[in-house]
Amino acid sequence: MRPSARSLKALERICHRPKSTSFIGLGRMGHEMAFNLFSKQFAKNAEAHFVVCDAIPDSARAFSENFLGHFPGAKLAIASTPEEAMLASQTVITMLPSSPQVKAVYSEGLIPVLRSLPQEQARSTLCIDSTTLDVSVAQQVASDVISTGAEMVDAPVSGGVTGAKAGTLSFLVGGTESSFKRSESILSLMGQRIIHCGASGSGLGAKICNNLVLGVQQIVVGEAMLLGQRLGLNPAVLAGVINSSTGGCWASSVNNPVPSALPRKSPPCERDYEGGFATALMLKDMGLARDVAKQTKTPIPLGAAAEHIYARVVKEQPALSRKDFSSVYRFLETSKEEHLE
Ligand code: NAD
Repeated sequence: MRPSARSLKALERICHRPKSTSFIGLGRMGHEMAFNLFSKQFAKNAEAHFVVCDAIPDSARAFSENFLGHFPGAKLAIASTPEEAMLASQTVITMLPSSPQVKAVYSEGLIPVLRSLPQEQARSTLCIDSTTLDVSVAQQVASDVISTGAEMVDAPVSGGVTGAKAGTLSFLVGGTESSFKRSESILSLMGQRIIHCGASGSGLGAKICNNLVLGVQQIVVGEAMLLGQRLGLNPAVLAGVINSSTGGCWASSVNNPVPSALPRKSPPCERDYEGGFATALMLKDMGLARDVAKQTKTPIPLGAAAEHIYARVVKEQPALSRKDFSSVYRFLETSKEEHLE
């Protein structure tokens, strides 16, 4: 959709491209990340301009109301399309579900605008994509952005919604040294660890490998917690043993899937598995691992088994699809099969 003359005029009135940052994709992660970024930029410079955009207009409106409720004097505008967000700002951050949305937003929206901008404005632009998506799609998008003179990094995150809210995310960055340096000052307003993983696509490679480990671990922690209870163990005692022994891992010590297993913590299972990392997104990440494993001829048998289990969770218990992926425990608990395949 092309930006309308009216909405462009409104954006021009309030936005000054070099002072402005656009954030596209205000979902579970994006809302928290944009809030931290804008509030810290606003604290440094009350003249900074902010633009938000989401395919669901209510998400952008909810963000705007929340942010302006905290910072009434801030200059915040809603862009109705990614094109408008690019026209308005020199720095553009995207946090979208996956490859199809990133392809659509960049190829149909942001890149055509970059091509139409005066060279100097295109060259001053920095795009940061924090979506977890396919490595080759990200590399192609980055190459198309860079061909306009602009800079781009892939900067997927680790740390979940809690880390996004607390501003403690880890950013795994892929891109040139100079693009990394430029993005670092922005990313550090949303996270604690900003790691340059290598060339374009490397941040995603690191993220996909990490989530391969996580996806497998969350299932086996669910298996062990279920087995232990059926052997008569108290879940808090069992979690205490695992977490102080060699089986300890994030899936067990922070994201334990059994209510009351972590008495001093509040993992998603304490809220009916709401508010974490959706099972559907974990299934997507296992698929990304499968694709790169195929391309590089790397065996990932446990990854393949885990992908199959998450696919069954989403298909057989669709209500768990939007819930935290630790709800795979509930799938195991309610399964009648002794040998789940
Ligand atoms: P989400 O589905 O909650 O948010 C995505 C947002 O993008 C939604 O608001 C959606 O309306 C918007 N969107 C979709 N298409 C759009 C378009 N064409 N134009 C503008 N906006 C569009 O997802 P999320 O949980 O925030 O995750 C975002 C990314 O971060 C995913 O790639 C995910 O894998 C990754 N991630 C998520 C977590 C987590 O704990 N949720 C942790 C680490 C990484």
